[in-house]
Amino acid sequence: MSKSNTSALFSSVYEELEVIENLDIDSIASQIMSIGFECIRCGKCCRGSFGDNSVLLNSEDMTLLEKQSLKDGFVIPMIDLSDKEQWQLVDKNGILHTFGWMLKRTPDMDCIFLNNNSECQIYDHRPYLCRTYPFFLNNGKLEVCECEGLGKFISLEAARNLAVHVVHRKVVELMDTIKIYEKFLESGVVLEERLSSDICKASRIIVYDTKGTSEFDLSRL
Ligand code: SF4
Repeated sequence: MSKSNTSALFSSVYEELEVIENLDIDSIASQIMSIGFECIRCGKCCRGSFGDNSVLLNSEDMTLLEKQSLKDGFVIPMIDLSDKEQWQLVDKNGILHTFGWMLKRTPDMDCIFLNNNSECQIYDHRPYLCRTYPFFLNNGKLEVCECEGLGKFISLEAARNLAVHVVHRKVVELMDTIKIYEKFLESGVVLEERLSSDICKASRIIVYDTKGTSEFDLSRL
């Protein structure tokens, strides 16, 4: 990544962080109230059949999962090797590299924590993406994903609590992005893009997160 790209990346993240940190929580809360929302615990958003149900994990999610001994065996690198037409990042030795972690999924692409009754088995410790679903912030704007619980009554207190989580999630994600890129640049590794179909013998992957780099055996995916 060239010097100019690097500084452009950092300044765009810092700019968005400033926008987010100056957001009016009450305005977000009233938008959520006017949309209406209640999680009906249907589990639809946790299922592969629902669409992109990948749950990206921020640094606070990772700490919480670790504390609950819910990391090993449940968390995998943020990568999708199923689509052979997808571009991946590799170093000069052909080793895969990626940024961040996500929750593991079953062969049906359902979340690993969803049981047969469509119940989340870690509901009280679920990641920020799940706690704030179907809401998220995009360049300071509140956006909404598809969800069966939309349009339902939500109290001002609950809407405000959700707004606080939505904003905090974005702040953590942006701070994580800065730290992860700093760790990547410190590594001095030069990466190139290669099609998944050209990466046949990869056995391990290097993952950058806010704590540094770690190696992950791809047979554990
Ligand atoms: S952690 Fe729970 S709420 Fe989140 S996707 Fe998995 S089952 Fe659904």
